Amino acid sequence: MDIITLKAYAKINLALDVIGRRPNGYHDVRMIMQTIQLYDKVTMKRTSTPGIMMKTNLHYLPTNENNLVYAAAKLFKDTLHIEDGVYINLEKKIPVAAGMAGGSSDAAATLFGLNELFDTNLSLEQLMELGVQIGADVPFCLLRGTALSEGIGEILTPLAPAPSCYCLIVKPPVSVSTKFVYENLVLDETTNHPDIDGMLEAIAFNDLKGVTSRLGNVLEPVTLAECPEIAQIKQEMLDLGAIGSLMSGSGPTVFGLFDNQKKAEKAFYQFKIGEYGKQTFLTRFFNNNTAHSHQDLEFDEEF
Ligand code: ATP
Repeated sequence: MDIITLKAYAKINLALDVIGRRPNGYHDVRMIMQTIQLYDKVTMKRTSTPGIMMKTNLHYLPTNENNLVYAAAKLFKDTLHIEDGVYINLEKKIPVAAGMAGGSSDAAATLFGLNELFDTNLSLEQLMELGVQIGADVPFCLLRGTALSEGIGEILTPLAPAPSCYCLIVKPPVSVSTKFVYENLVLDETTNHPDIDGMLEAIAFNDLKGVTSRLGNVLEPVTLAECPEIAQIKQEMLDLGAIGSLMSGSGPTVFGLFDNQKKAEKAFYQFKIGEYGKQTFLTRFFNNNTAHSHQDLEFDEEF
Protein backbone atom coordinates (compact mmCIF):
# COMPACT_ATOMS: atom_id res chain seq x y z
CA MET A 1 0.00 0.00 0.00
CA ASP A 2 1.44 3.38 -1.03
CA ILE A 3 -1.40 5.70 -0.19
CA ILE A 4 -4.07 5.85 2.49
CA THR A 5 -6.86 8.29 3.39
CA LEU A 6 -8.30 8.36 6.91
CA LYS A 7 -11.09 10.25 8.59
CA ALA A 8 -9.95 12.17 11.67
CA TYR A 9 -13.03 12.67 13.84
CA ALA A 10 -13.72 15.57 16.20
CA LYS A 11 -14.75 15.17 19.84
CA ILE A 12 -16.99 16.97 22.29
CA ASN A 13 -16.82 16.87 26.08
CA LEU A 14 -20.12 15.80 27.62
CA ALA A 15 -18.55 16.76 30.94
CA LEU A 16 -15.27 18.46 31.79
CA ASP A 17 -13.93 18.85 35.30
CA VAL A 18 -10.57 20.11 36.48
CA ILE A 19 -9.60 18.67 39.84
CA GLY A 20 -6.11 20.03 40.34
CA ARG A 21 -3.13 21.85 38.99
CA ARG A 22 0.33 20.24 38.82
CA PRO A 23 3.52 22.18 39.60
CA ASN A 24 4.50 21.93 35.91
CA GLY A 25 1.36 23.82 34.89
CA TYR A 26 -0.54 20.77 33.64
CA HIS A 27 -4.03 20.16 35.01
CA ASP A 28 -5.58 17.01 36.37
CA VAL A 29 -8.88 16.52 34.63
CA ARG A 30 -11.90 14.24 34.66
CA MET A 31 -13.73 14.40 31.38
CA ILE A 32 -16.31 12.40 29.50
CA MET A 33 -15.26 12.43 25.89
CA GLN A 34 -17.42 11.62 22.90
CA THR A 35 -16.31 11.25 19.29
CA ILE A 36 -18.65 12.83 16.75
CA GLN A 37 -19.10 12.22 13.04
CA LEU A 38 -17.52 15.48 11.94
CA TYR A 39 -14.11 14.85 10.44
CA ASP A 40 -11.02 16.07 8.63
CA LYS A 41 -9.43 13.86 5.99
CA VAL A 42 -5.76 12.94 6.15
CA THR A 43 -4.20 11.40 3.05
CA MET A 44 -0.70 9.95 3.36
CA LYS A 45 1.52 8.84 0.50
CA ARG A 46 4.91 7.12 0.68
CA THR A 47 7.64 8.82 -1.29
CA SER A 48 11.16 7.67 -2.11
CA THR A 49 12.52 11.17 -1.48
CA PRO A 50 13.17 11.45 2.24
CA GLY A 51 11.50 14.04 4.46
CA ILE A 52 7.95 15.14 5.19
CA MET A 53 5.92 17.36 2.91
CA MET A 54 2.42 18.46 3.68
CA LYS A 55 -0.29 20.70 2.32
CA THR A 56 -3.69 21.73 3.65
CA ASN A 57 -6.79 23.49 2.35
CA LEU A 58 -6.55 26.11 5.15
CA HIS A 59 -3.94 28.65 4.09
CA TYR A 60 -3.44 30.00 7.60
CA LEU A 61 -2.39 26.69 9.13
CA PRO A 62 1.33 25.92 9.33
CA THR A 63 2.70 23.10 7.17
CA ASN A 64 5.89 22.61 9.21
CA GLU A 65 6.68 21.18 12.69
CA ASN A 66 4.00 23.49 14.09
CA ASN A 67 1.29 21.46 12.44
CA LEU A 68 0.35 18.50 14.62
CA VAL A 69 0.20 16.30 11.50
CA TYR A 70 3.78 17.14 10.62
CA ALA A 71 4.86 16.73 14.26
CA ALA A 72 3.20 13.30 14.41
CA ALA A 73 4.83 12.18 11.15
CA LYS A 74 8.24 13.35 12.36
CA LEU A 75 7.86 11.60 15.72
CA PHE A 76 6.76 8.40 13.99
CA LYS A 77 9.59 8.43 11.43
CA ASP A 78 12.26 9.31 14.01
CA THR A 79 11.07 6.72 16.54
CA LEU A 80 10.90 3.92 13.98
CA HIS A 81 13.98 5.04 12.00
CA ILE A 82 12.08 5.25 8.72
CA GLU A 83 14.17 6.57 5.84
CA ASP A 84 11.45 6.90 3.19
CA GLY A 85 9.57 10.16 2.97
CA VAL A 86 5.88 10.91 3.23
CA TYR A 87 3.58 13.37 1.52
CA ILE A 88 0.51 14.35 3.53
CA ASN A 89 -2.60 16.18 2.45
CA LEU A 90 -4.84 17.53 5.23
CA GLU A 91 -8.40 18.49 4.35
CA LYS A 92 -9.82 20.42 7.32
CA LYS A 93 -13.50 20.60 8.12
CA ILE A 94 -13.35 20.56 11.94
CA PRO A 95 -13.33 24.16 13.21
CA VAL A 96 -9.84 25.26 14.29
CA ALA A 97 -9.01 26.32 17.87
CA ALA A 98 -12.54 25.38 18.79
CA GLY A 99 -12.31 22.87 21.67
CA MET A 100 -12.97 19.90 19.39
CA ALA A 101 -9.46 18.39 19.32
CA GLY A 102 -9.20 18.80 15.55
CA GLY A 103 -5.41 19.00 15.51
CA SER A 104 -5.07 16.12 17.98
CA SER A 105 -7.34 13.96 15.84
CA ASP A 106 -5.32 14.78 12.72
CA ALA A 107 -2.18 13.72 14.61
CA ALA A 108 -3.88 10.49 15.72
CA ALA A 109 -4.93 9.67 12.15
CA THR A 110 -1.39 10.39 10.96
CA LEU A 111 0.14 7.96 13.48
CA PHE A 112 -2.45 5.32 12.65
CA GLY A 113 -2.04 5.79 8.90
CA LEU A 114 1.76 5.74 8.87
CA ASN A 115 1.71 2.54 10.94
CA GLU A 116 -0.35 0.98 8.12
CA LEU A 117 1.62 2.56 5.30
CA PHE A 118 5.02 1.44 6.59
CA ASP A 119 3.81 -1.95 7.94
CA THR A 120 5.29 -1.20 11.34
CA ASN A 121 2.70 -3.19 13.30
CA LEU A 122 2.62 -0.98 16.39
CA SER A 123 -0.29 -1.88 18.68
CA LEU A 124 -2.96 0.66 19.51
CA GLU A 125 -1.39 1.04 22.97
CA GLN A 126 2.02 1.77 21.42
CA LEU A 127 0.47 4.34 19.08
CA MET A 128 -1.25 5.94 22.08
CA GLU A 129 2.08 6.13 23.94
CA LEU A 130 3.58 7.94 20.96
CA GLY A 131 0.48 10.12 20.66
CA VAL A 132 0.62 11.52 24.18
CA GLN A 133 4.02 13.03 23.32
CA ILE A 134 2.18 15.19 20.77
CA GLY A 135 -0.77 16.16 22.98
CA ALA A 136 -2.91 14.97 25.88
CA ASP A 137 -5.99 14.42 23.65
CA VAL A 138 -4.19 12.33 20.99
CA PRO A 139 -4.58 8.96 22.80
CA PHE A 140 -8.36 9.48 23.00
CA CYS A 141 -8.47 10.41 19.32
CA LEU A 142 -6.86 7.03 18.58
CA LEU A 143 -9.27 5.17 20.87
CA ARG A 144 -12.45 7.07 19.92
CA GLY A 145 -16.05 6.44 20.98
CA THR A 146 -17.18 7.30 24.52
CA ALA A 147 -14.53 7.37 27.26
CA LEU A 148 -13.65 8.70 30.69
CA SER A 149 -10.43 10.65 30.50
CA GLU A 150 -8.32 11.28 33.62
CA GLY A 151 -4.79 12.30 34.59
CA ILE A 152 -3.82 15.06 32.14
CA GLY A 153 -6.17 13.38 29.66
CA GLU A 154 -4.04 10.33 28.92
CA ILE A 155 -5.64 7.84 31.34
CA LEU A 156 -8.58 6.49 29.39
CA THR A 157 -11.41 4.17 30.36
CA PRO A 158 -13.59 3.13 27.42
CA LEU A 159 -17.31 3.37 28.23
CA ALA A 160 -20.48 1.98 26.74
CA PRO A 161 -21.62 4.18 23.84
CA ALA A 162 -23.34 7.35 25.05
CA PRO A 163 -27.10 7.32 24.30
CA SER A 164 -27.83 8.01 20.66
CA CYS A 165 -29.02 11.54 19.77
CA TYR A 166 -28.55 14.39 17.28
CA CYS A 167 -25.72 16.76 17.94
CA LEU A 168 -25.82 20.33 16.67
CA ILE A 169 -22.44 22.09 16.58
CA VAL A 170 -22.10 25.87 16.37
CA LYS A 171 -18.79 27.72 16.57
CA PRO A 172 -18.88 31.47 17.00
CA PRO A 173 -16.15 33.29 15.01
CA VAL A 174 -13.82 33.80 17.96
CA SER A 175 -10.61 31.89 18.59
CA VAL A 176 -9.78 31.04 22.17
CA SER A 177 -6.48 29.43 23.05
CA THR A 178 -6.68 26.41 25.32
CA LYS A 179 -3.66 27.73 27.24
CA PHE A 180 -5.39 31.05 27.99
CA VAL A 181 -8.52 29.34 29.28
CA TYR A 182 -6.67 26.95 31.61
CA GLU A 183 -4.43 29.77 32.89
CA ASN A 184 -7.47 31.87 33.75
CA LEU A 185 -9.40 29.11 35.47
CA VAL A 186 -9.74 29.80 39.19
CA LEU A 187 -10.39 26.63 41.13
CA ASP A 188 -12.05 27.52 44.45
CA GLU A 189 -15.17 26.82 46.46
CA THR A 190 -17.34 28.66 43.89
CA THR A 191 -16.35 26.23 41.13
CA ASN A 192 -19.40 24.36 39.90
CA HIS A 193 -18.08 20.84 39.30
CA PRO A 194 -20.09 18.59 36.96
CA ASP A 195 -21.50 15.33 38.33
CA ILE A 196 -19.18 13.01 36.39
CA ASP A 197 -20.07 9.91 38.44
CA GLY A 198 -23.78 10.53 37.85
CA MET A 199 -23.12 10.84 34.14
CA LEU A 200 -21.12 7.61 34.11
CA GLU A 201 -24.15 5.90 35.61
CA ALA A 202 -26.52 7.51 33.10
CA ILE A 203 -24.31 6.32 30.23
CA ALA A 204 -24.23 2.80 31.68
CA PHE A 205 -28.07 2.84 31.76
CA ASN A 206 -28.30 4.39 28.26
CA ASP A 207 -30.29 7.21 29.86
CA LEU A 208 -30.15 10.24 27.54
CA LYS A 209 -32.00 12.59 29.93
CA GLY A 210 -29.65 11.48 32.71
CA VAL A 211 -26.75 12.53 30.49
CA THR A 212 -28.22 15.83 29.30
CA SER A 213 -29.21 16.90 32.82
CA ARG A 214 -25.57 16.51 33.89
CA LEU A 215 -23.78 18.30 31.04
CA GLY A 216 -21.16 20.54 32.66
CA ASN A 217 -17.84 22.20 31.91
CA VAL A 218 -15.76 24.10 34.50
CA LEU A 219 -14.02 25.99 31.69
CA GLU A 220 -17.24 27.47 30.35
CA PRO A 221 -17.37 30.57 32.62
CA VAL A 222 -13.75 31.45 31.68
CA THR A 223 -14.40 31.36 27.94
CA LEU A 224 -17.83 32.90 28.35
CA ALA A 225 -16.23 36.02 29.84
CA GLU A 226 -14.30 36.43 26.55
CA CYS A 227 -17.11 35.29 24.28
CA PRO A 228 -20.61 36.16 25.52
CA GLU A 229 -22.10 34.70 22.31
CA ILE A 230 -21.73 31.27 23.97
CA ALA A 231 -24.61 31.96 26.39
CA GLN A 232 -26.77 33.27 23.58
CA ILE A 233 -26.13 30.21 21.36
CA LYS A 234 -26.86 27.84 24.25
CA GLN A 235 -30.15 29.57 24.97
CA GLU A 236 -31.15 29.58 21.32
CA MET A 237 -30.44 25.85 21.05
CA LEU A 238 -32.62 25.17 24.10
CA ASP A 239 -35.38 27.40 22.69
CA LEU A 240 -35.22 25.36 19.49
CA GLY A 241 -35.76 22.09 21.36
CA ALA A 242 -32.32 20.89 22.48
CA ILE A 243 -32.57 18.79 25.63
CA GLY A 244 -29.15 20.02 26.73
CA SER A 245 -26.45 22.37 25.54
CA LEU A 246 -22.85 23.03 26.56
CA MET A 247 -19.55 24.52 25.48
CA SER A 248 -17.06 21.84 24.34
CA GLY A 249 -13.52 21.70 25.76
CA SER A 250 -11.99 25.15 26.13
CA GLY A 251 -14.50 26.44 23.58
CA PRO A 252 -15.85 28.45 22.03
CA THR A 253 -17.79 25.72 20.18
CA VAL A 254 -21.23 25.03 21.62
CA PHE A 255 -23.13 21.80 21.11
CA GLY A 256 -26.80 21.05 21.57
CA LEU A 257 -28.21 17.54 21.95
CA PHE A 258 -31.61 16.65 20.51
CA ASP A 259 -33.68 13.48 20.85
CA ASN A 260 -35.91 14.50 17.95
CA GLN A 261 -34.63 14.56 14.36
CA LYS A 262 -37.14 17.13 13.09
CA LYS A 263 -36.31 19.60 15.87
CA ALA A 264 -32.58 19.03 15.33
CA GLU A 265 -32.89 19.71 11.60
CA LYS A 266 -35.02 22.79 12.16
CA ALA A 267 -32.48 24.16 14.65
CA PHE A 268 -29.66 23.35 12.23
CA TYR A 269 -31.31 25.34 9.41
CA GLN A 270 -32.05 28.18 11.78
CA PHE A 271 -28.36 28.51 12.73
CA LYS A 272 -27.22 27.78 9.17
CA ILE A 273 -28.93 30.92 7.85
CA GLY A 274 -27.67 33.02 10.77
CA GLU A 275 -24.36 34.71 11.51
CA TYR A 276 -22.65 31.46 12.61
CA GLY A 277 -23.86 29.56 9.53
CA LYS A 278 -20.42 28.77 8.12
CA GLN A 279 -19.44 26.88 11.25
CA THR A 280 -22.71 25.10 11.94
CA PHE A 281 -22.94 21.30 11.61
CA LEU A 282 -25.53 18.68 12.42
CA THR A 283 -23.97 15.36 13.31
CA ARG A 284 -24.27 12.18 15.40
CA PHE A 285 -22.04 10.46 17.90
CA PHE A 286 -19.43 8.11 16.49
CA ASN A 287 -19.47 4.94 18.52
CA ASN A 288 -17.57 2.31 16.72
CA ASN A 289 -15.19 1.69 19.59
CA THR A 290 -12.85 -0.38 17.43
CA ALA A 291 -10.11 2.03 16.47
CA HIS A 292 -10.07 3.13 12.83
CA SER A 293 -12.13 0.24 11.50
CA HIS A 294 -11.82 -0.77 7.88
CA GLN A 295 -14.92 1.11 6.86
CA ASP A 296 -12.97 4.30 7.56
CA LEU A 297 -10.28 3.40 5.11
CA GLU A 298 -10.45 4.72 1.62
CA PHE A 299 -7.85 3.87 -0.94
CA ASP A 300 -7.33 6.60 -3.49
CA GLU A 301 -5.49 6.30 -6.78
CA GLU A 302 -4.03 9.77 -6.43
CA PHE A 303 -4.62 13.00 -4.55
P1 ATP B 1 -8.34 21.03 21.83
O1 ATP B 1 -9.80 20.74 21.89
O2 ATP B 1 -7.48 19.78 21.87
O3 ATP B 1 -7.89 22.11 22.74
P2 ATP B 1 -8.72 22.77 19.63
O4 ATP B 1 -9.85 22.25 18.82
O5 ATP B 1 -9.05 23.85 20.60
O6 ATP B 1 -8.04 21.56 20.36
P3 ATP B 1 -7.03 22.79 17.32
O7 ATP B 1 -7.98 23.12 16.23
O8 ATP B 1 -6.63 21.37 17.46
O9 ATP B 1 -7.60 23.34 18.71
O10 ATP B 1 -5.69 23.65 17.14
C1 ATP B 1 -5.31 24.75 17.91
C2 ATP B 1 -4.10 25.42 17.28
O11 ATP B 1 -3.12 24.46 16.85
C3 ATP B 1 -4.46 26.22 16.05
O12 ATP B 1 -4.46 27.58 16.37
C4 ATP B 1 -3.43 25.88 14.98
O13 ATP B 1 -2.61 26.95 14.62
C5 ATP B 1 -2.55 24.79 15.58
N1 ATP B 1 -2.56 23.56 14.75
C6 ATP B 1 -1.51 22.77 14.52
N2 ATP B 1 -1.84 21.72 13.76
C7 ATP B 1 -3.16 21.81 13.51
C8 ATP B 1 -4.08 21.01 12.77
N3 ATP B 1 -3.69 19.90 12.13
N4 ATP B 1 -5.35 21.40 12.75
C9 ATP B 1 -5.76 22.51 13.41
N5 ATP B 1 -4.92 23.32 14.09
C10 ATP B 1 -3.64 22.98 14.15
